[in-house]
Amino acid sequence: MQELWENFTRRTGELDALAGAMGLLEWDQQTYMPRGSGAVRGGQSAALGRLHHQLSVDPELGTWLEQLQKQKLDELKTAAVRNAWRRYQRSTLLPSRLVEELAVARTEGFAAWMKAREVADFAPYSAALQKLIDLNREAAERLAVIGPVQHPYDALLEDFDPGSTVAELAPMFKRLSAGLQVFLSAIEGKEGPAALDLKLDKDGQRRISMRLLKDLGFDLSTGRLDEAEHPFTVGMDRSDVRLTTHLHEENFLATLGGTVHECGHGLYEQGLRGDWAGTGVNRAAGAGIHESQSRFWENFVGRSLPFFKYLVPRMTGIWPSLELTPDQIFGGANRVSRSLIRIFADEVTYNLHIVARFELEVAIFEGKLQAADLPDAWNAAYARNVGVVADNPRDGILQDVHWSSGLFGYFPSYTIGNLYAASFGACIAEDLPDLWSQVEAGHFAPVLGWLREKVHTRGHIKDAPEIYREIAGDRDPVEDLLAHIWSRQGKLYGVSRPTE
Ligand SMILES: [Zn+2]
Repeated sequence: MQELWENFTRRTGELDALAGAMGLLEWDQQTYMPRGSGAVRGGQSAALGRLHHQLSVDPELGTWLEQLQKQKLDELKTAAVRNAWRRYQRSTLLPSRLVEELAVARTEGFAAWMKAREVADFAPYSAALQKLIDLNREAAERLAVIGPVQHPYDALLEDFDPGSTVAELAPMFKRLSAGLQVFLSAIEGKEGPAALDLKLDKDGQRRISMRLLKDLGFDLSTGRLDEAEHPFTVGMDRSDVRLTTHLHEENFLATLGGTVHECGHGLYEQGLRGDWAGTGVNRAAGAGIHESQSRFWENFVGRSLPFFKYLVPRMTGIWPSLELTPDQIFGGANRVSRSLIRIFADEVTYNLHIVARFELEVAIFEGKLQAADLPDAWNAAYARNVGVVADNPRDGILQDVHWSSGLFGYFPSYTIGNLYAASFGACIAEDLPDLWSQVEAGHFAPVLGWLREKVHTRGHIKDAPEIYREIAGDRDPVEDLLAHIWSRQGKLYGVSRPTE
């Protein structure tokens, strides 16, 4: 048994090391790599990817896992074997012909999407998208043998959010969308807080970003912050976490949201357990719970009035001539409007953009929608959920890169993250009665300590829905998110929740 376990953890450690090296190459590509080095980088990434795949599908690994499954294992080992078996199945169930076709279709899909965006016409993208849909439908069918898959879309969810299912998400998203419509109707025609244009120099934005990371508890001896076109975070290990942000000279609120969001991802990565290295349990339990950490800091904390009471004096320290009150920036950061572009959406309507995409993806994998149907279906889903329709496909179906890269089943993670974050926020407010005075004083350690204990150090010992239940019990995350919105944005718009 001991030898079996050592073989297994050695292999998992090797796979983690290779994945970390690939992550580092990716980070470098998006930050410091010279523009002319793309071709050689492509070769390096592909070579490491092949090596990673070979080690992942090695029949010897399968044998070890089968033998381990017959043993009596403690909680950590049980989780390690369950996670690894899933990954092994995912790697071995898809024939290499399909894997190669998918890789080609992704490259072609991305190029076709770029072309379509350039000419603002869906047509040049349609065939490439259909190919990606067909191949992903085939993959979903083949992967449906893993776990209790009841819906063709479940196999895709499983890749990003193990444990989440259409049966559970669909009614939750439906209730959330309905609840948000009630809110949007209530604020219809209300002026709300004033818009805020914060044009601030990049050097100061860089300084305040670093200050924020330190104050929020991000360890800069095992992590760093750099600039990238699109902010992202990559954790090679808890001891090497790379954050990126984008400095928007014309819009400081956009920089702030991005920096705090990525810091939330980074704090999760730094909070994973070092003594679980090599088990594969020392990683996030899914994309949705990862997003719950970024959104908790970005929205629940980072858009609150106490947070701005902490931040404004630090801002005027950097920009002494700045005239700004915490109430002004709080209002500016919490304006709500129905809009076309997901990534620019506010805390309230963001989720409606996700519900629209979820409905479309589910219909695609039920075989009800083909690529050619999607432009009309997209507009209908937007009219139904968000309440606006694009007159240009660039602001509509062509806005996201995800589908063009073969990424189906990822979008729900964003709203799962918002839902979890809302319940975590409600739980923290109960557990830490002086939460908001601590935030106002810039003491974020109690909040971080709570997240460390309840979420970060749990790694992937259980699937995210179970970790959520352990923390939140039978709380209703939809109700928590709606209550949060009525109490924050509702107050700013002078509306209160109708009693049913
Ligand atoms: Zn994120």
